[in-house]
Amino acid sequence: MPLPLGHTAIGLATFKTMDHTASRGSNWKLLVWLTLLANLPDIDVIPGLLLQGNGNLFHRGPTHSLLFALASGWLASWVWRFSRHIPRLAFRTCFMIVFSHVLADMLFTAAPVSLFWPLEVYWSDGSSGWGQIARALVFDSFRDFGILLGVSVYIGLLALIRKWFLDLREPVLVRRRIR
Ligand SMILES: [Zn+2]
Repeated sequence: MPLPLGHTAIGLATFKTMDHTASRGSNWKLLVWLTLLANLPDIDVIPGLLLQGNGNLFHRGPTHSLLFALASGWLASWVWRFSRHIPRLAFRTCFMIVFSHVLADMLFTAAPVSLFWPLEVYWSDGSSGWGQIARALVFDSFRDFGILLGVSVYIGLLALIRKWFLDLREPVLVRRRIR
């Protein structure tokens, strides 16, 4: 399953696809914000852990849905007004980063997500305690290495394609200026 490292990498690829403006202020603040948004749906392990020591109890329910991605994406595109530390991103970018998590869980794992909640709802099977979740975060992240590699190749190709299209446009712009 994609763990925070994998989800963050996929979120970064989504950001690079949606938003290609050169400067967004501090890079580390942007990276922290992207990490938060890309992993936001997994916040649903916390109530289960706190209430019954089982992170799976409420996992993959409402926070793994289209509606949650829309609502949290809207909120995330709006909260920059409250703090200058929060990067200002467009709604569609924030929405797609949160939704990339839901899509990745859908595509890379066998267990279902609650895509059309409240029309449907699924909960994760089994039980995951504090120890299991901490161990998975620390020791299983290397499994996301394939995702990391794929994302690096994708971001590199995206930069090349963008540059190629800009180079194609250049002579036209120059020609227009000459006339
Ligand atoms: Zn998830």
